[in-house]
Amino acid sequence: MKIRAAVARAREPFRIEEVELEGPRADEVLVEVEACGICHTDLTAKDHDYGTPLPAVLGHEGVGRIVALGEGVTGLVVGARVVMSFGACGRCPSCAAELPAYCRHARDYNLFARRLDGSSPISQAGRALTGHFFGQSAFASHAIASAHNLVPLGEDLPGPLMTSLACGVQTGAGAVVNVLRPEPDDAIGVFGCGTVGLAAIMAAKIAGCARIVAVDVRAERLETARALGATEVVDNAQADLGAALKRLGGLTLAFDNTGRPEVIEAAYNALHPRGRIALAGLSARGASLTLDLNRLMASGRSLRGTIEGDADPRTFIPRLVDWYRRGELPLEQIVTTYPFEQINEAAADMLAGRVIKPVLRMMP
Ligand SMILES: [Zn+2]
Ligand SMILES: [Zn+2]
Repeated sequence: MKIRAAVARAREPFRIEEVELEGPRADEVLVEVEACGICHTDLTAKDHDYGTPLPAVLGHEGVGRIVALGEGVTGLVVGARVVMSFGACGRCPSCAAELPAYCRHARDYNLFARRLDGSSPISQAGRALTGHFFGQSAFASHAIASAHNLVPLGEDLPGPLMTSLACGVQTGAGAVVNVLRPEPDDAIGVFGCGTVGLAAIMAAKIAGCARIVAVDVRAERLETARALGATEVVDNAQADLGAALKRLGGLTLAFDNTGRPEVIEAAYNALHPRGRIALAGLSARGASLTLDLNRLMASGRSLRGTIEGDADPRTFIPRLVDWYRRGELPLEQIVTTYPFEQINEAAADMLAGRVIKPVLRMMP
Protein backbone atom coordinates (compact mmCIF):
# COMPACT_ATOMS: atom_id res chain seq x y z
CA MET A 1 0.00 0.00 0.00
CA LYS A 2 1.01 3.60 -0.52
CA ILE A 3 1.60 5.60 2.67
CA ARG A 4 3.06 8.98 3.68
CA ALA A 5 6.37 8.88 5.51
CA ALA A 6 9.04 11.37 6.61
CA VAL A 7 12.11 10.24 4.69
CA ALA A 8 15.43 11.00 6.46
CA ARG A 9 18.56 11.66 4.43
CA ALA A 10 21.87 12.56 6.11
CA ARG A 11 22.06 16.20 7.21
CA GLU A 12 19.03 17.22 5.12
CA PRO A 13 15.59 18.22 6.40
CA PHE A 14 13.03 15.40 6.68
CA ARG A 15 10.78 15.25 3.61
CA ILE A 16 7.29 13.82 3.74
CA GLU A 17 6.95 11.62 0.67
CA GLU A 18 4.84 8.79 -0.68
CA VAL A 19 6.45 5.37 -0.12
CA GLU A 20 5.33 1.76 -0.56
CA LEU A 21 4.64 -0.34 2.55
CA GLU A 22 4.46 -4.16 2.47
CA GLY A 23 1.74 -6.05 4.32
CA PRO A 24 2.58 -7.64 7.69
CA ARG A 25 4.60 -10.84 7.85
CA ALA A 26 3.62 -13.65 10.24
CA ASP A 27 4.98 -11.95 13.39
CA GLU A 28 4.13 -8.37 12.39
CA VAL A 29 1.20 -5.98 12.60
CA LEU A 30 0.09 -3.07 10.40
CA VAL A 31 -0.58 0.01 12.54
CA GLU A 32 -2.23 3.26 11.49
CA VAL A 33 -0.10 5.80 13.34
CA GLU A 34 -1.92 8.38 15.47
CA ALA A 35 1.11 10.20 16.96
CA CYS A 36 4.85 9.72 17.39
CA GLY A 37 7.30 11.47 19.70
CA ILE A 38 10.68 12.70 18.48
CA CYS A 39 13.63 11.43 20.53
CA HIS A 40 17.27 12.55 20.25
CA THR A 41 18.11 9.10 18.87
CA ASP A 42 16.06 9.88 15.74
CA LEU A 43 18.10 13.00 15.04
CA THR A 44 21.40 11.30 15.92
CA ALA A 45 20.54 8.50 13.49
CA LYS A 46 19.84 11.04 10.73
CA ASP A 47 22.73 13.44 11.20
CA HIS A 48 25.54 11.75 13.12
CA ASP A 49 26.33 8.48 11.32
CA TYR A 50 25.10 6.36 14.19
CA GLY A 51 24.91 3.17 12.17
CA THR A 52 21.40 3.47 10.74
CA PRO A 53 21.58 3.07 6.93
CA LEU A 54 20.05 6.09 5.16
CA PRO A 55 17.74 7.02 3.57
CA ALA A 56 15.45 5.77 6.30
CA VAL A 57 12.05 6.23 7.86
CA LEU A 58 12.77 6.89 11.55
CA GLY A 59 10.45 7.35 14.54
CA HIS A 60 10.35 4.99 17.51
CA GLU A 61 7.71 6.34 19.89
CA GLY A 62 4.57 5.54 17.92
CA VAL A 63 1.00 5.23 19.17
CA GLY A 64 -1.69 3.96 16.78
CA ARG A 65 -4.38 1.46 15.95
CA ILE A 66 -3.94 -2.05 14.55
CA VAL A 67 -5.45 -2.36 11.07
CA ALA A 68 -4.10 -5.80 10.05
CA LEU A 69 -2.40 -8.75 11.76
CA GLY A 70 0.18 -11.19 10.41
CA GLU A 71 -1.17 -14.75 10.43
CA GLY A 72 1.04 -15.86 13.34
CA VAL A 73 0.13 -13.02 15.72
CA THR A 74 -1.75 -13.97 18.86
CA GLY A 75 -3.00 -11.85 21.76
CA LEU A 76 -3.67 -8.72 19.65
CA VAL A 77 -6.78 -7.80 17.65
CA VAL A 78 -7.60 -5.54 14.71
CA GLY A 79 -8.89 -2.22 16.03
CA ALA A 80 -6.83 -2.30 19.23
CA ARG A 81 -4.90 0.79 20.19
CA VAL A 82 -1.20 0.23 20.94
CA VAL A 83 2.07 1.87 21.96
CA MET A 84 5.01 0.70 19.85
CA SER A 85 8.12 0.24 21.98
CA PHE A 86 11.63 -0.96 21.07
CA GLY A 87 12.44 -4.17 19.21
CA ALA A 88 13.69 -7.43 20.72
CA CYS A 89 13.69 -11.05 19.57
CA GLY A 90 11.78 -12.51 22.52
CA ARG A 91 13.92 -15.67 22.56
CA CYS A 92 17.56 -14.90 23.54
CA PRO A 93 18.83 -15.15 27.17
CA SER A 94 18.24 -11.41 27.87
CA CYS A 95 14.71 -11.59 26.48
CA ALA A 96 14.07 -14.76 28.52
CA ALA A 97 15.26 -12.86 31.61
CA GLU A 98 12.69 -10.09 30.85
CA LEU A 99 15.51 -7.66 29.99
CA PRO A 100 14.69 -7.15 26.28
CA ALA A 101 16.73 -3.92 26.06
CA TYR A 102 19.81 -6.18 26.17
CA CYS A 103 18.50 -8.53 23.47
CA ARG A 104 21.39 -9.95 21.50
CA HIS A 105 19.68 -8.67 18.35
CA ALA A 106 18.87 -5.22 19.81
CA ARG A 107 21.19 -3.30 17.50
CA ASP A 108 19.83 -5.05 14.41
CA TYR A 109 16.20 -4.44 15.30
CA ASN A 110 16.60 -0.92 16.60
CA LEU A 111 19.55 1.06 15.24
CA PHE A 112 20.29 -0.91 12.10
CA ALA A 113 16.55 -0.91 11.64
CA ARG A 114 16.11 -4.16 9.79
CA ARG A 115 14.39 -7.48 10.10
CA LEU A 116 16.78 -10.30 10.96
CA ASP A 117 16.82 -11.40 7.31
CA GLY A 118 18.04 -7.90 6.39
CA SER A 119 14.85 -6.90 4.56
CA SER A 120 12.76 -3.74 4.95
CA PRO A 121 8.97 -3.35 4.65
CA ILE A 122 9.36 0.11 3.04
CA SER A 123 10.45 0.93 -0.51
CA GLN A 124 10.29 3.84 -2.91
CA ALA A 125 10.37 3.55 -6.70
CA GLY A 126 11.43 -0.08 -6.36
CA ARG A 127 14.34 0.70 -4.01
CA ALA A 128 14.31 -0.43 -0.37
CA LEU A 129 14.45 2.30 2.30
CA THR A 130 15.53 1.50 5.85
CA GLY A 131 12.12 0.92 7.36
CA HIS A 132 12.12 -1.12 10.57
CA PHE A 133 13.67 1.45 12.96
CA PHE A 134 13.09 0.17 16.51
CA GLY A 135 10.80 -2.42 14.91
CA GLN A 136 8.37 0.28 13.69
CA SER A 137 9.59 3.38 11.68
CA ALA A 138 6.64 5.43 12.93
CA PHE A 139 7.32 8.86 11.34
CA ALA A 140 4.65 7.80 8.87
CA SER A 141 0.91 7.45 8.38
CA HIS A 142 1.27 3.66 8.82
CA ALA A 143 3.91 1.31 10.22
CA ILE A 144 4.74 -2.37 10.04
CA ALA A 145 5.59 -3.15 13.66
CA SER A 146 6.93 -6.30 15.27
CA ALA A 147 4.08 -7.76 17.31
CA HIS A 148 6.53 -8.38 20.16
CA ASN A 149 7.04 -4.59 20.65
CA LEU A 150 3.38 -3.68 21.11
CA VAL A 151 1.66 -2.76 24.34
CA PRO A 152 -2.16 -2.31 24.40
CA LEU A 153 -3.36 1.18 25.32
CA GLY A 154 -6.77 2.26 26.71
CA GLU A 155 -9.13 4.19 24.43
CA ASP A 156 -9.48 7.04 26.93
CA LEU A 157 -5.77 7.89 27.08
CA PRO A 158 -4.45 10.90 25.13
CA GLY A 159 -2.30 9.45 22.35
CA PRO A 160 0.28 12.26 22.07
CA LEU A 161 1.04 12.12 25.81
CA MET A 162 1.47 8.34 25.70
CA THR A 163 4.06 8.28 22.88
CA SER A 164 7.14 8.82 25.02
CA LEU A 165 6.21 5.91 27.29
CA ALA A 166 7.73 3.92 24.40
CA CYS A 167 11.25 5.27 24.92
CA GLY A 168 12.10 8.55 26.67
CA VAL A 169 9.84 8.33 29.73
CA GLN A 170 10.36 4.57 30.01
CA THR A 171 14.14 5.17 30.00
CA GLY A 172 14.19 7.79 32.76
CA ALA A 173 11.51 6.28 35.01
CA GLY A 174 12.91 2.77 34.51
CA ALA A 175 16.46 3.83 35.38
CA VAL A 176 15.15 5.02 38.73
CA VAL A 177 12.69 2.29 39.70
CA ASN A 178 14.29 -0.73 37.95
CA VAL A 179 18.00 0.09 38.20
CA LEU A 180 18.65 2.46 41.12
CA ARG A 181 15.61 1.29 43.18
CA PRO A 182 15.67 4.17 45.68
CA GLU A 183 14.62 4.01 49.31
CA PRO A 184 12.80 6.93 50.95
CA ASP A 185 15.94 8.27 52.65
CA ASP A 186 17.92 8.46 49.41
CA ALA A 187 19.32 11.68 47.96
CA ILE A 188 19.27 11.28 44.19
CA GLY A 189 20.94 13.55 41.64
CA VAL A 190 19.50 13.73 38.12
CA PHE A 191 21.94 15.12 35.57
CA GLY A 192 20.28 16.47 32.43
CA CYS A 193 16.62 17.52 32.54
CA GLY A 194 15.17 16.70 29.13
CA THR A 195 12.41 14.11 28.77
CA VAL A 196 14.54 11.30 30.23
CA GLY A 197 15.78 13.29 33.23
CA LEU A 198 12.38 14.80 34.00
CA ALA A 199 10.82 11.32 33.88
CA ALA A 200 13.52 10.20 36.33
CA ILE A 201 12.55 13.08 38.63
CA MET A 202 8.85 12.14 38.46
CA ALA A 203 9.77 8.52 39.29
CA ALA A 204 12.06 9.59 42.16
CA LYS A 205 9.18 11.59 43.60
CA ILE A 206 6.83 8.59 43.28
CA ALA A 207 9.51 6.47 45.05
CA GLY A 208 9.46 9.02 47.86
CA CYS A 209 13.13 10.08 47.71
CA ALA A 210 13.90 12.52 50.52
CA ARG A 211 16.02 14.75 48.27
CA ILE A 212 15.96 15.08 44.48
CA VAL A 213 18.71 17.29 43.03
CA ALA A 214 18.17 18.38 39.42
CA VAL A 215 21.16 19.53 37.33
CA ASP A 216 20.92 21.22 33.94
CA VAL A 217 22.34 24.19 32.05
CA ARG A 218 18.96 25.78 31.28
CA ALA A 219 17.20 27.77 34.01
CA GLU A 220 13.72 27.08 32.58
CA ARG A 221 14.37 23.33 32.61
CA LEU A 222 15.28 23.58 36.28
CA GLU A 223 11.97 25.36 36.95
CA THR A 224 10.14 22.48 35.27
CA ALA A 225 12.24 20.04 37.33
CA ARG A 226 11.13 21.79 40.52
CA ALA A 227 7.49 21.68 39.43
CA LEU A 228 7.83 17.92 38.85
CA GLY A 229 9.46 17.10 42.19
CA ALA A 230 13.07 18.32 42.42
CA THR A 231 13.82 19.57 45.92
CA GLU A 232 17.06 21.32 44.94
CA VAL A 233 18.47 22.49 41.61
CA VAL A 234 21.97 23.26 40.31
CA ASP A 235 22.41 25.46 37.25
CA ASN A 236 25.50 23.92 35.73
CA ALA A 237 25.94 26.91 33.42
CA GLN A 238 26.59 29.07 36.53
CA ALA A 239 28.00 26.84 39.26
CA ASP A 240 31.12 24.71 39.83
CA LEU A 241 29.23 21.43 39.77
CA GLY A 242 31.50 19.50 42.15
CA ALA A 243 31.46 22.29 44.73
CA ALA A 244 27.71 22.77 44.41
CA LEU A 245 27.02 19.06 44.99
CA LYS A 246 29.33 19.06 47.98
CA ARG A 247 27.53 22.07 49.44
CA LEU A 248 24.26 20.15 49.09
CA GLY A 249 25.70 17.32 51.18
CA GLY A 250 26.45 14.84 48.40
CA LEU A 251 24.28 12.10 46.91
CA THR A 252 23.47 8.46 47.58
CA LEU A 253 22.24 7.84 44.01
CA ALA A 254 22.90 9.52 40.67
CA PHE A 255 21.38 9.23 37.21
CA ASP A 256 23.17 10.76 34.23
CA ASN A 257 21.59 11.28 30.87
CA THR A 258 23.98 13.94 29.58
CA GLY A 259 26.68 11.49 28.46
CA ARG A 260 29.28 14.16 29.28
CA PRO A 261 32.38 12.77 31.04
CA GLU A 262 32.98 15.87 33.21
CA VAL A 263 29.39 15.78 34.47
CA ILE A 264 29.52 12.02 35.16
CA GLU A 265 32.82 12.41 37.05
CA ALA A 266 31.35 15.19 39.20
CA ALA A 267 28.25 13.07 39.89
CA TYR A 268 30.37 10.02 40.74
CA ASN A 269 32.64 12.05 43.03
CA ALA A 270 29.60 13.39 44.91
CA LEU A 271 28.45 9.88 45.90
CA HIS A 272 28.54 8.73 49.49
CA PRO A 273 30.08 5.33 50.37
CA ARG A 274 28.05 2.54 48.65
CA GLY A 275 26.55 5.18 46.34
CA ARG A 276 25.40 4.08 42.91
CA ILE A 277 25.34 5.86 39.57
CA ALA A 278 23.49 4.78 36.43
CA LEU A 279 24.40 6.14 32.99
CA ALA A 280 21.87 6.46 30.17
CA GLY A 281 23.21 9.34 28.05
CA LEU A 282 24.72 8.94 24.62
CA SER A 283 28.36 10.10 24.72
CA ALA A 284 30.63 11.29 21.94
CA ARG A 285 32.28 8.38 20.17
CA GLY A 286 35.37 7.22 22.11
CA ALA A 287 34.50 9.24 25.24
CA SER A 288 36.04 7.88 28.45
CA LEU A 289 36.02 8.57 32.18
CA THR A 290 38.83 9.22 34.65
CA LEU A 291 37.99 7.65 38.02
CA ASP A 292 40.17 7.13 41.09
CA LEU A 293 40.16 3.32 41.19
CA ASN A 294 41.18 2.99 44.82
CA ARG A 295 38.31 5.26 45.75
CA LEU A 296 35.93 3.17 43.66
CA MET A 297 37.08 0.00 45.42
CA ALA A 298 37.30 1.33 48.98
CA SER A 299 34.03 3.28 48.91
CA GLY A 300 31.98 0.36 47.58
CA ARG A 301 30.45 2.57 44.92
CA SER A 302 29.06 1.18 41.72
CA LEU A 303 28.63 2.55 38.25
CA ARG A 304 26.60 0.91 35.54
CA GLY A 305 25.09 1.61 32.17
CA THR A 306 21.41 1.15 31.38
CA ILE A 307 19.32 1.33 28.27
CA GLU A 308 15.52 1.76 28.03
CA GLY A 309 15.47 1.82 31.85
CA ASP A 310 16.03 -1.97 31.97
CA ALA A 311 12.30 -2.15 31.27
CA ASP A 312 10.21 -4.88 29.71
CA PRO A 313 7.70 -2.58 27.96
CA ARG A 314 4.88 -5.12 28.24
CA THR A 315 4.90 -4.90 32.02
CA PHE A 316 6.48 -1.48 32.59
CA ILE A 317 4.36 0.66 30.24
CA PRO A 318 1.12 -0.44 32.01
CA ARG A 319 2.74 0.67 35.30
CA LEU A 320 3.56 4.06 33.76
CA VAL A 321 -0.04 4.34 32.53
CA ASP A 322 -1.29 3.66 36.07
CA TRP A 323 0.93 6.45 37.38
CA TYR A 324 -0.40 8.77 34.66
CA ARG A 325 -4.01 7.94 35.56
CA ARG A 326 -3.27 8.71 39.22
CA GLY A 327 -1.84 12.12 38.25
CA GLU A 328 1.69 11.15 39.30
CA LEU A 329 3.18 11.33 35.80
CA PRO A 330 2.06 14.76 34.53
CA LEU A 331 3.26 14.26 30.96
CA GLU A 332 1.27 17.28 29.78
CA GLN A 333 4.00 19.41 31.39
CA ILE A 334 6.67 18.14 29.00
CA VAL A 335 4.84 17.44 25.69
CA THR A 336 4.30 19.91 22.81
CA THR A 337 2.37 18.64 19.77
CA TYR A 338 2.95 19.49 16.09
CA PRO A 339 1.16 18.44 12.90
CA PHE A 340 3.18 15.71 11.12
CA GLU A 341 4.01 18.18 8.33
CA GLN A 342 5.94 20.33 10.86
CA ILE A 343 8.47 17.61 11.69
CA ASN A 344 11.45 19.85 10.87
CA GLU A 345 10.18 22.71 13.06
CA ALA A 346 9.54 20.21 15.87
CA ALA A 347 13.07 18.78 15.61
CA ALA A 348 14.63 22.27 15.50
CA ASP A 349 12.62 23.36 18.56
CA MET A 350 13.83 20.31 20.49
CA LEU A 351 17.48 20.85 19.55
CA ALA A 352 17.26 24.53 20.51
CA GLY A 353 15.68 23.64 23.87
CA ARG A 354 12.46 25.54 23.11
CA VAL A 355 10.39 22.42 23.81
CA ILE A 356 11.08 19.30 25.89
CA LYS A 357 9.24 16.49 24.08
CA PRO A 358 7.89 17.31 20.63
CA VAL A 359 5.19 14.92 19.45
CA LEU A 360 3.96 14.66 15.86
CA ARG A 361 0.26 14.11 15.21
CA MET A 362 -0.45 12.04 12.12
CA MET A 363 -4.22 12.38 12.69
CA PRO A 364 -6.17 15.52 13.58
ZN1 LIG B 1 16.32 -11.20 22.41
ZN1 LIG C 1 14.40 7.06 22.05
